Amino acid sequence: MPYKSREKSKIIPNKPTEDQPQEKSKKTPQLLRGMKDILPEDQHYWDFISRRVDATAKTFGFGRIVTPVLEETSLFVRSVGKETDIIEKEMYTLDDKHGSSISLRPEGTAGVVRAYIEHGMLNRPQPVKMFYYGPFFRHDRPQAGRYRQFHQFGFEIIGDKHPVLDAQMLMMTYVFYQEIGLPISLQVNSVGHPECREDYKKVLVDYYKKRKNSLCEDCKNRLQKNPLRLLDCKESDCQVLMQDAPQTVDYLCEECNEHFVSVLEHLDGLEVPYVLNPRLVRGLDYYSNTAFEIWPEVYNPVEEDKDEDEENKEDKDGENANEETEKNIEPVKPSSQSALGGGGRYDYLVEELGGQPAPAIGFAGGIERLINEIKMRHIDIGQPTPPDIFVAQLGDEARKKILKLFSELRKSGFQIAESFSKNGLKPQMEMANKLGVKFTIILGQKELIDGTLLIRDMESGLQETVDYDTIKDELKKRLANHGVRKNSRSTNRSSDNLS
Ligand code: AMP
Repeated sequence: MPYKSREKSKIIPNKPTEDQPQEKSKKTPQLLRGMKDILPEDQHYWDFISRRVDATAKTFGFGRIVTPVLEETSLFVRSVGKETDIIEKEMYTLDDKHGSSISLRPEGTAGVVRAYIEHGMLNRPQPVKMFYYGPFFRHDRPQAGRYRQFHQFGFEIIGDKHPVLDAQMLMMTYVFYQEIGLPISLQVNSVGHPECREDYKKVLVDYYKKRKNSLCEDCKNRLQKNPLRLLDCKESDCQVLMQDAPQTVDYLCEECNEHFVSVLEHLDGLEVPYVLNPRLVRGLDYYSNTAFEIWPEVYNPVEEDKDEDEENKEDKDGENANEETEKNIEPVKPSSQSALGGGGRYDYLVEELGGQPAPAIGFAGGIERLINEIKMRHIDIGQPTPPDIFVAQLGDEARKKILKLFSELRKSGFQIAESFSKNGLKPQMEMANKLGVKFTIILGQKELIDGTLLIRDMESGLQETVDYDTIKDELKKRLANHGVRKNSRSTNRSSDNLS
Protein backbone atom coordinates (compact mmCIF):
# COMPACT_ATOMS: atom_id res chain seq x y z
CA MET A 1 0.00 0.00 0.00
CA PRO A 2 2.25 2.81 -1.12
CA TYR A 3 1.32 6.05 0.62
CA LYS A 4 0.25 8.01 -2.45
CA SER A 5 -1.72 5.42 -4.30
CA ARG A 6 -3.43 3.75 -1.37
CA GLU A 7 -7.16 3.53 -1.40
CA LYS A 8 -9.18 4.35 1.70
CA SER A 9 -10.03 0.93 3.00
CA LYS A 10 -10.10 -1.03 6.22
CA ILE A 11 -7.72 -3.98 6.55
CA ILE A 12 -9.65 -6.97 5.24
CA PRO A 13 -8.16 -10.28 6.29
CA ASN A 14 -7.14 -12.43 3.34
CA LYS A 15 -7.94 -9.68 0.86
CA PRO A 16 -5.82 -10.51 -2.20
CA THR A 17 -3.12 -8.00 -3.03
CA GLU A 18 -0.94 -7.59 -6.10
CA ASP A 19 1.45 -10.09 -4.54
CA GLN A 20 -1.20 -12.63 -3.58
CA PRO A 21 -3.33 -13.64 -6.54
CA GLN A 22 -6.66 -15.08 -5.45
CA GLU A 23 -6.92 -18.80 -5.98
CA LYS A 24 -9.86 -21.10 -5.63
CA SER A 25 -7.87 -24.13 -4.51
CA LYS A 26 -6.79 -24.45 -0.90
CA LYS A 27 -3.25 -23.29 -1.36
CA THR A 28 -0.76 -23.58 1.49
CA PRO A 29 -0.14 -20.05 2.74
CA GLN A 30 3.23 -18.75 1.63
CA LEU A 31 5.72 -16.28 2.97
CA LEU A 32 4.96 -12.82 1.57
CA ARG A 33 7.36 -11.63 -1.08
CA GLY A 34 10.22 -9.66 0.39
CA MET A 35 9.65 -11.09 3.89
CA LYS A 36 11.90 -13.57 5.61
CA ASP A 37 11.61 -16.17 8.36
CA ILE A 38 14.44 -16.19 10.84
CA LEU A 39 14.87 -19.85 11.70
CA PRO A 40 16.22 -21.27 14.98
CA GLU A 41 19.54 -22.22 13.36
CA ASP A 42 20.18 -18.55 12.50
CA GLN A 43 19.22 -17.24 15.88
CA HIS A 44 22.78 -17.08 17.23
CA TYR A 45 23.60 -14.43 14.61
CA TRP A 46 20.70 -12.30 15.86
CA ASP A 47 21.64 -12.86 19.49
CA PHE A 48 25.20 -11.92 18.65
CA ILE A 49 24.15 -8.65 16.97
CA SER A 50 21.81 -7.64 19.78
CA ARG A 51 24.56 -8.42 22.33
CA ARG A 52 27.03 -6.28 20.35
CA VAL A 53 24.53 -3.41 19.99
CA ASP A 54 23.69 -3.57 23.73
CA ALA A 55 27.36 -3.69 24.71
CA THR A 56 28.36 -0.80 22.43
CA ALA A 57 25.39 1.32 23.50
CA LYS A 58 26.13 0.65 27.16
CA THR A 59 29.78 1.65 26.93
CA PHE A 60 28.76 4.91 25.25
CA GLY A 61 26.04 5.64 27.81
CA PHE A 62 22.93 5.09 25.65
CA GLY A 63 19.57 3.93 27.03
CA ARG A 64 17.34 1.58 25.07
CA ILE A 65 14.04 2.86 23.70
CA VAL A 66 11.30 0.73 22.14
CA THR A 67 8.74 2.58 20.04
CA PRO A 68 5.69 1.04 18.31
CA VAL A 69 5.90 -0.35 14.80
CA LEU A 70 2.71 1.57 13.95
CA GLU A 71 2.62 5.36 14.04
CA GLU A 72 0.52 8.13 12.54
CA THR A 73 1.33 8.41 8.85
CA SER A 74 1.91 12.15 9.19
CA LEU A 75 4.88 11.49 11.50
CA PHE A 76 6.79 9.89 8.64
CA VAL A 77 5.53 12.24 5.94
CA ARG A 78 6.65 15.26 7.97
CA SER A 79 10.01 13.80 8.92
CA VAL A 80 11.24 11.58 6.11
CA GLY A 81 9.86 13.99 3.49
CA LYS A 82 6.93 13.86 1.08
CA GLU A 83 9.06 13.62 -2.04
CA THR A 84 11.22 10.70 -0.93
CA ASP A 85 10.93 7.17 -2.33
CA ILE A 86 10.09 5.91 1.15
CA ILE A 87 7.01 8.09 1.44
CA GLU A 88 6.00 8.14 -2.21
CA LYS A 89 6.30 4.45 -2.92
CA GLU A 90 7.40 2.30 -0.04
CA MET A 91 5.30 2.91 3.04
CA TYR A 92 2.77 0.34 4.25
CA THR A 93 -0.14 2.66 5.00
CA LEU A 94 -3.67 1.82 6.07
CA ASP A 95 -6.64 3.37 7.78
CA ASP A 96 -7.48 2.21 11.28
CA LYS A 97 -11.05 1.58 12.40
CA HIS A 98 -11.60 5.29 13.03
CA GLY A 99 -10.35 6.26 9.60
CA SER A 100 -7.01 7.67 10.80
CA SER A 101 -4.12 7.01 8.51
CA ILE A 102 -1.44 4.92 10.20
CA SER A 103 1.76 3.41 8.81
CA LEU A 104 4.20 0.67 9.61
CA ARG A 105 7.40 2.45 10.49
CA PRO A 106 9.84 2.63 7.56
CA GLU A 107 12.69 3.93 9.77
CA GLY A 108 13.48 4.53 13.43
CA THR A 109 14.44 8.15 14.01
CA ALA A 110 10.97 9.66 13.55
CA GLY A 111 9.47 7.49 16.30
CA VAL A 112 12.32 8.23 18.68
CA VAL A 113 11.93 11.96 18.08
CA ARG A 114 8.17 11.73 18.62
CA ALA A 115 8.85 9.97 21.93
CA TYR A 116 11.48 12.59 22.87
CA ILE A 117 8.88 15.34 22.42
CA GLU A 118 5.94 13.44 23.88
CA HIS A 119 7.80 12.44 27.06
CA GLY A 120 9.24 15.90 27.62
CA MET A 121 12.79 14.63 27.34
CA LEU A 122 13.93 18.18 26.68
CA ASN A 123 13.69 18.64 30.45
CA ARG A 124 16.27 15.93 31.08
CA PRO A 125 20.01 16.65 31.01
CA GLN A 126 20.90 17.17 27.35
CA PRO A 127 21.82 15.51 25.12
CA VAL A 128 19.62 12.45 25.54
CA LYS A 129 21.26 9.32 24.16
CA MET A 130 19.05 6.45 23.06
CA PHE A 131 19.39 3.28 21.03
CA TYR A 132 16.94 0.81 19.53
CA TYR A 133 16.57 -2.26 17.41
CA GLY A 134 13.59 -3.87 15.76
CA PRO A 135 11.66 -4.48 12.54
CA PHE A 136 11.00 -1.86 9.86
CA PHE A 137 8.90 -2.02 6.71
CA ARG A 138 9.38 -0.71 3.18
CA HIS A 139 7.45 -1.92 0.17
CA ASP A 140 10.58 -1.80 -1.94
CA ARG A 141 11.50 -4.04 -4.89
CA PRO A 142 12.95 -7.12 -3.17
CA GLN A 143 16.54 -8.00 -4.04
CA ALA A 144 19.40 -9.80 -2.39
CA GLY A 145 19.94 -7.92 0.88
CA ARG A 146 16.79 -5.83 0.47
CA TYR A 147 13.60 -6.95 2.15
CA ARG A 148 10.15 -5.53 2.78
CA GLN A 149 10.41 -6.32 6.46
CA PHE A 150 13.95 -5.82 7.66
CA HIS A 151 15.64 -5.01 10.94
CA GLN A 152 17.72 -2.08 12.00
CA PHE A 153 19.52 -0.99 15.11
CA GLY A 154 20.09 2.68 15.70
CA PHE A 155 21.80 5.19 17.96
CA GLU A 156 20.45 8.71 18.53
CA ILE A 157 21.91 11.71 20.40
CA ILE A 158 19.26 14.42 20.77
CA GLY A 159 19.57 17.88 22.30
CA ASP A 160 22.99 19.32 21.41
CA LYS A 161 24.79 20.37 18.26
CA HIS A 162 28.41 20.35 19.36
CA PRO A 163 30.60 18.76 16.66
CA VAL A 164 32.21 16.54 19.30
CA LEU A 165 28.90 14.66 19.39
CA ASP A 166 29.07 14.05 15.65
CA ALA A 167 32.56 12.66 16.18
CA GLN A 168 31.35 10.51 19.06
CA MET A 169 28.51 9.11 16.94
CA LEU A 170 30.85 8.36 14.05
CA MET A 171 33.41 6.76 16.35
CA MET A 172 30.73 4.67 18.04
CA THR A 173 29.47 3.42 14.70
CA TYR A 174 32.96 2.74 13.46
CA VAL A 175 34.01 0.76 16.54
CA PHE A 176 30.76 -1.20 16.47
CA TYR A 177 31.68 -2.71 13.08
CA GLN A 178 35.38 -2.82 13.81
CA GLU A 179 34.91 -4.81 17.00
CA ILE A 180 32.83 -7.35 15.10
CA GLY A 181 35.81 -7.71 12.79
CA LEU A 182 34.24 -6.43 9.60
CA PRO A 183 36.40 -4.54 7.13
CA ILE A 184 34.44 -1.36 6.51
CA SER A 185 34.94 2.23 5.49
CA LEU A 186 33.37 5.24 7.14
CA GLN A 187 32.17 7.60 4.39
CA VAL A 188 31.67 11.17 5.54
CA ASN A 189 30.22 14.32 4.02
CA SER A 190 28.40 17.47 5.01
CA VAL A 191 25.18 18.52 3.31
CA GLY A 192 25.05 21.81 5.21
CA HIS A 193 21.99 23.39 6.75
CA PRO A 194 18.85 24.06 4.66
CA GLU A 195 20.08 27.38 3.25
CA CYS A 196 23.41 25.97 2.06
CA ARG A 197 21.46 23.16 0.50
CA GLU A 198 19.26 25.57 -1.45
CA ASP A 199 22.38 27.11 -3.04
CA TYR A 200 23.75 23.69 -3.77
CA LYS A 201 20.49 22.45 -5.23
CA LYS A 202 20.49 25.29 -7.76
CA VAL A 203 23.89 24.33 -9.20
CA LEU A 204 23.00 20.67 -9.05
CA VAL A 205 19.84 21.28 -11.06
CA ASP A 206 21.82 23.32 -13.62
CA TYR A 207 24.31 20.49 -13.97
CA TYR A 208 21.67 17.82 -14.46
CA LYS A 209 19.40 19.89 -16.69
CA LYS A 210 22.19 19.99 -19.26
CA ARG A 211 22.37 16.20 -19.13
CA LYS A 212 18.67 15.48 -18.77
CA ASN A 213 18.51 13.09 -21.72
CA SER A 214 20.86 10.63 -20.03
CA LEU A 215 18.80 10.49 -16.84
CA CYS A 216 16.47 7.64 -15.92
CA GLU A 217 12.75 8.43 -15.70
CA ASP A 218 12.83 8.57 -11.89
CA CYS A 219 15.69 11.06 -11.97
CA LYS A 220 13.90 13.27 -14.50
CA ASN A 221 11.18 13.45 -11.88
CA ARG A 222 13.65 14.03 -9.07
CA LEU A 223 15.12 16.92 -11.02
CA GLN A 224 11.78 18.69 -10.64
CA LYS A 225 10.83 17.57 -7.18
CA ASN A 226 13.87 16.70 -5.11
CA PRO A 227 17.20 17.19 -6.88
CA LEU A 228 19.37 15.93 -3.97
CA ARG A 229 17.89 12.50 -4.56
CA LEU A 230 19.64 12.50 -7.96
CA LEU A 231 22.82 11.62 -6.08
CA ASP A 232 21.07 8.61 -4.55
CA CYS A 233 20.05 6.97 -7.82
CA LYS A 234 20.86 3.31 -8.28
CA GLU A 235 20.76 3.31 -12.12
CA SER A 236 24.17 2.90 -13.74
CA ASP A 237 23.80 5.77 -16.28
CA CYS A 238 22.84 8.17 -13.50
CA GLN A 239 25.74 6.93 -11.40
CA VAL A 240 28.13 7.82 -14.22
CA LEU A 241 26.71 11.36 -14.35
CA MET A 242 27.08 11.59 -10.60
CA GLN A 243 30.87 11.35 -10.88
CA ASP A 244 31.20 14.92 -12.17
CA ALA A 245 28.28 16.45 -10.31
CA PRO A 246 28.97 19.50 -8.08
CA GLN A 247 30.00 18.70 -4.51
CA THR A 248 28.01 19.73 -1.45
CA VAL A 249 31.09 20.85 0.52
CA ASP A 250 31.79 23.62 -2.01
CA TYR A 251 28.49 25.27 -1.08
CA LEU A 252 28.67 25.21 2.71
CA CYS A 253 28.31 28.49 4.57
CA GLU A 254 31.05 29.46 7.01
CA GLU A 255 29.26 28.05 10.03
CA CYS A 256 28.54 24.69 8.39
CA ASN A 257 32.06 24.52 7.06
CA GLU A 258 33.49 25.17 10.52
CA HIS A 259 31.25 22.51 12.01
CA PHE A 260 32.38 19.99 9.42
CA VAL A 261 36.06 20.81 9.84
CA SER A 262 35.70 20.44 13.59
CA VAL A 263 34.04 17.02 13.21
CA LEU A 264 36.91 15.86 11.02
CA GLU A 265 39.49 17.23 13.45
CA HIS A 266 37.88 15.30 16.28
CA LEU A 267 37.91 12.16 14.15
CA ASP A 268 41.58 12.69 13.36
CA GLY A 269 42.27 13.14 17.06
CA LEU A 270 40.46 9.87 17.76
CA GLU A 271 42.39 8.20 14.92
CA VAL A 272 39.13 7.03 13.39
CA PRO A 273 39.83 6.54 9.68
CA TYR A 274 37.27 7.99 7.28
CA VAL A 275 36.79 8.65 3.59
CA LEU A 276 35.62 12.10 2.54
CA ASN A 277 32.81 11.42 0.11
CA PRO A 278 31.64 14.74 -1.35
CA ARG A 279 28.64 13.22 -3.09
CA LEU A 280 27.18 11.37 -0.17
CA VAL A 281 23.63 12.50 0.52
CA ARG A 282 21.14 10.51 2.51
CA GLY A 283 17.80 9.25 1.25
CA LEU A 284 15.76 11.07 3.89
CA ASP A 285 14.91 14.77 3.97
CA TYR A 286 15.61 15.52 7.60
CA TYR A 287 19.40 15.37 7.45
CA SER A 288 21.53 18.49 7.83
CA ASN A 289 25.29 19.02 8.10
CA THR A 290 27.14 15.78 8.82
CA ALA A 291 26.04 12.83 6.69
CA PHE A 292 27.80 9.47 6.89
CA GLU A 293 27.56 5.85 5.85
CA ILE A 294 29.28 2.59 6.64
CA TRP A 295 30.31 0.72 3.52
CA PRO A 296 31.65 -2.82 3.54
CA GLU A 297 35.02 -3.29 1.84
CA VAL A 298 34.96 -5.27 -1.40
CA TYR A 299 34.88 -8.99 -0.83
CA ASN A 300 35.89 -11.15 -3.76
CA PRO A 301 37.12 -14.58 -2.82
CA VAL A 302 36.49 -16.23 -6.20
CA GLU A 303 37.24 -14.00 -9.15
CA GLU A 304 38.14 -10.35 -9.32
CA ASP A 305 36.90 -9.40 -12.77
CA LYS A 306 33.37 -10.54 -13.14
CA ASP A 307 31.57 -9.54 -16.25
CA GLU A 308 29.18 -6.76 -15.33
CA ASP A 309 26.29 -8.44 -17.15
CA GLU A 310 26.75 -11.43 -14.90
CA GLU A 311 26.66 -9.22 -11.84
CA ASN A 312 23.49 -7.52 -12.90
CA LYS A 313 21.81 -10.75 -13.90
CA GLU A 314 21.25 -11.89 -10.36
CA ASP A 315 17.90 -11.13 -8.89
CA LYS A 316 16.97 -8.52 -11.46
CA ASP A 317 13.35 -9.29 -10.84
CA GLY A 318 13.79 -10.11 -7.18
CA GLU A 319 12.41 -13.63 -7.62
CA ASN A 320 15.00 -15.15 -5.30
CA ALA A 321 15.04 -12.37 -2.79
CA ASN A 322 13.91 -14.59 0.06
CA GLU A 323 16.78 -16.99 -0.43
CA GLU A 324 20.12 -16.53 1.23
CA THR A 325 22.30 -18.78 -0.82
CA GLU A 326 25.95 -18.67 -1.73
CA LYS A 327 24.96 -17.26 -5.11
CA ASN A 328 23.88 -14.06 -3.40
CA ILE A 329 27.45 -13.61 -2.35
CA GLU A 330 28.87 -11.60 -5.20
CA PRO A 331 31.72 -9.15 -5.24
CA VAL A 332 29.97 -5.81 -5.12
CA LYS A 333 31.67 -2.46 -5.53
CA PRO A 334 30.91 -0.62 -2.29
CA SER A 335 28.38 2.17 -2.68
CA SER A 336 25.41 3.66 -0.91
CA GLN A 337 23.40 0.76 -2.34
CA SER A 338 25.44 -1.80 -0.43
CA ALA A 339 25.79 0.35 2.70
CA LEU A 340 25.55 -1.43 6.02
CA GLY A 341 24.10 1.68 7.57
CA GLY A 342 23.99 5.43 7.53
CA GLY A 343 23.14 8.48 9.51
CA GLY A 344 23.69 12.13 10.06
CA ARG A 345 22.63 15.28 11.86
CA TYR A 346 18.99 16.19 11.98
CA ASP A 347 19.10 19.53 13.72
CA TYR A 348 15.64 20.71 12.68
CA LEU A 349 13.53 17.57 12.99
CA VAL A 350 12.44 17.95 16.62
CA GLU A 351 11.24 21.47 15.81
CA GLU A 352 9.56 20.31 12.58
CA LEU A 353 7.55 17.84 14.60
CA GLY A 354 6.39 20.46 17.06
CA GLY A 355 9.03 20.27 19.80
CA GLN A 356 11.38 22.92 21.14
CA PRO A 357 14.53 23.19 19.00
CA ALA A 358 16.80 20.25 19.80
CA PRO A 359 19.64 19.53 17.38
CA ALA A 360 20.48 15.87 17.02
CA ILE A 361 22.53 13.22 15.27
CA GLY A 362 21.82 9.55 14.66
CA PHE A 363 22.74 6.35 12.87
CA ALA A 364 20.79 3.30 11.67
CA GLY A 365 22.36 0.02 10.58
CA GLY A 366 20.73 -2.85 8.70
CA ILE A 367 20.88 -6.15 10.58
CA GLU A 368 20.17 -8.52 7.66
CA ARG A 369 22.96 -6.97 5.61
CA LEU A 370 25.30 -7.15 8.57
CA ILE A 371 24.54 -10.84 9.08
CA ASN A 372 25.07 -11.50 5.36
CA GLU A 373 28.49 -9.83 5.59
CA ILE A 374 29.40 -11.83 8.69
CA LYS A 375 28.43 -15.08 6.95
CA MET A 376 30.08 -14.20 3.67
CA ARG A 377 33.36 -13.32 5.35
CA HIS A 378 33.18 -16.25 7.77
CA ILE A 379 33.63 -13.93 10.72
CA ASP A 380 33.92 -15.90 13.94
CA ILE A 381 31.03 -15.00 16.21
CA GLY A 382 31.38 -18.14 18.34
CA GLN A 383 29.24 -21.22 17.91
CA PRO A 384 25.99 -21.75 19.79
CA THR A 385 26.93 -24.06 22.67
CA PRO A 386 25.11 -27.39 22.75
CA PRO A 387 23.36 -28.56 25.92
CA ASP A 388 25.71 -30.23 28.40
CA ILE A 389 23.56 -33.23 29.22
CA PHE A 390 21.09 -35.55 27.56
CA VAL A 391 18.61 -37.57 29.60
CA ALA A 392 17.53 -40.92 28.12
CA GLN A 393 14.96 -43.40 29.36
CA LEU A 394 13.88 -46.98 28.72
CA GLY A 395 10.22 -47.75 29.34
CA ASP A 396 7.19 -45.89 30.67
CA GLU A 397 8.12 -45.92 34.36
CA ALA A 398 11.58 -44.58 33.56
CA ARG A 399 10.00 -41.89 31.39
CA LYS A 400 7.99 -40.57 34.34
CA LYS A 401 11.04 -40.47 36.56
CA ILE A 402 13.31 -38.95 33.93
CA LEU A 403 10.78 -36.17 33.30
CA LYS A 404 10.96 -35.31 36.98
CA LEU A 405 14.77 -35.45 36.93
CA PHE A 406 14.81 -33.18 33.86
CA SER A 407 12.69 -30.67 35.71
CA GLU A 408 14.96 -30.70 38.78
CA LEU A 409 18.18 -30.46 36.80
CA ARG A 410 16.79 -27.61 34.68
CA LYS A 411 15.81 -25.70 37.82
CA SER A 412 19.36 -26.12 39.09
CA GLY A 413 20.75 -24.46 35.98
CA PHE A 414 21.91 -27.42 33.90
CA GLN A 415 21.46 -27.23 30.12
CA ILE A 416 19.66 -30.45 29.23
CA ALA A 417 18.32 -32.08 26.10
CA GLU A 418 15.92 -35.00 25.92
CA SER A 419 13.76 -37.05 23.66
CA PHE A 420 10.94 -38.05 25.99
CA SER A 421 8.70 -39.55 23.34
CA LYS A 422 11.30 -42.04 22.08
CA ASN A 423 11.38 -45.60 23.41
CA GLY A 424 14.57 -47.30 22.24
CA LEU A 425 17.99 -46.26 23.51
CA LYS A 426 19.50 -46.18 20.01
CA PRO A 427 17.57 -43.19 18.65
CA GLN A 428 18.11 -41.34 21.90
CA MET A 429 21.87 -41.93 21.81
CA GLU A 430 21.93 -40.86 18.18
CA MET A 431 20.26 -37.62 19.11
CA ALA A 432 22.63 -37.09 22.04
CA ASN A 433 25.57 -37.61 19.71
CA LYS A 434 24.17 -35.28 17.09
CA LEU A 435 23.66 -32.53 19.65
CA GLY A 436 27.24 -32.91 20.89
CA VAL A 437 26.35 -33.18 24.60
CA LYS A 438 29.08 -34.05 27.07
CA PHE A 439 27.19 -36.56 29.20
CA THR A 440 24.12 -38.72 28.79
CA ILE A 441 22.18 -39.91 31.80
CA ILE A 442 20.43 -43.22 31.20
CA LEU A 443 17.57 -44.58 33.26
CA GLY A 444 16.60 -48.19 32.45
CA GLN A 445 14.68 -50.90 34.35
CA LYS A 446 17.66 -51.97 36.43
CA GLU A 447 18.49 -48.42 37.53
CA LEU A 448 14.83 -47.85 38.39
CA ILE A 449 14.87 -50.78 40.78
CA ASP A 450 18.33 -49.95 42.21
CA GLY A 451 17.69 -46.22 42.67
CA THR A 452 20.67 -45.42 40.42
CA LEU A 453 21.47 -43.78 37.08
CA LEU A 454 24.06 -44.40 34.39
CA ILE A 455 26.28 -41.50 33.37
CA ARG A 456 27.91 -41.92 30.00
CA ASP A 457 30.85 -39.72 29.05
CA MET A 458 30.11 -39.12 25.37
CA GLU A 459 33.72 -38.41 24.49
CA SER A 460 35.33 -41.49 26.05
CA GLY A 461 32.26 -43.75 25.89
CA LEU A 462 32.82 -44.77 29.53
CA GLN A 463 29.72 -45.44 31.63
CA GLU A 464 29.44 -45.32 35.40
CA THR A 465 26.62 -46.10 37.79
CA VAL A 466 25.84 -43.40 40.36
CA ASP A 467 23.19 -43.05 43.07
CA TYR A 468 20.13 -41.18 41.88
CA ASP A 469 20.35 -38.80 44.83
CA THR A 470 23.92 -37.75 44.06
CA ILE A 471 23.35 -36.97 40.39
CA LYS A 472 23.59 -33.19 40.66
CA ASP A 473 26.95 -33.31 42.47
CA GLU A 474 28.24 -35.95 40.09
CA LEU A 475 27.28 -33.86 37.07
CA LYS A 476 28.77 -30.68 38.50
CA LYS A 477 32.03 -32.48 39.21
CA ARG A 478 32.23 -34.00 35.77
CA LEU A 479 31.25 -30.82 33.96
CA ALA A 480 33.84 -28.85 35.90
CA ASN A 481 36.50 -31.35 34.86
CA HIS A 482 35.32 -31.01 31.30
CA GLY A 483 36.17 -27.32 31.33
CA VAL A 484 32.53 -26.35 31.05
CA ARG A 485 32.90 -23.49 33.47
CA LYS A 486 35.49 -21.84 31.22
CA ASN A 487 33.30 -22.26 28.15
CA SER A 488 30.21 -21.06 29.87
CA ARG A 489 31.83 -17.80 31.00
CA SER A 490 32.83 -16.93 27.46
CA THR A 491 29.38 -17.69 26.10
CA ASN A 492 27.27 -16.26 28.92
CA ARG A 493 25.99 -19.68 29.86
CA SER A 494 24.74 -20.37 33.32
CA SER A 495 26.47 -23.32 34.93
CA ASP A 496 28.21 -20.87 37.31
CA ASN A 497 24.98 -20.70 39.24
CA LEU A 498 24.42 -24.45 39.39
CA SER A 499 22.95 -25.21 42.77
P1 AMP B 1 18.63 3.89 5.42
O1 AMP B 1 18.28 4.67 6.60
O2 AMP B 1 17.55 3.71 4.42
O3 AMP B 1 19.93 4.31 4.78
O4 AMP B 1 18.91 2.42 5.98
C1 AMP B 1 19.99 2.14 6.83
C2 AMP B 1 20.44 0.72 6.57
O5 AMP B 1 19.35 -0.18 6.76
C3 AMP B 1 20.88 0.47 5.14
O6 AMP B 1 22.22 0.85 4.95
C4 AMP B 1 20.68 -1.02 5.02
O7 AMP B 1 21.75 -1.73 5.61
C5 AMP B 1 19.45 -1.25 5.85
N1 AMP B 1 18.25 -1.30 5.00
C6 AMP B 1 17.53 -0.25 4.51
N2 AMP B 1 16.51 -0.68 3.78
C7 AMP B 1 16.56 -2.03 3.79
C8 AMP B 1 15.78 -3.07 3.20
N3 AMP B 1 14.72 -2.80 2.46
N4 AMP B 1 16.15 -4.36 3.44
C9 AMP B 1 17.23 -4.66 4.20
N5 AMP B 1 18.00 -3.72 4.78
C10 AMP B 1 17.68 -2.43 4.57
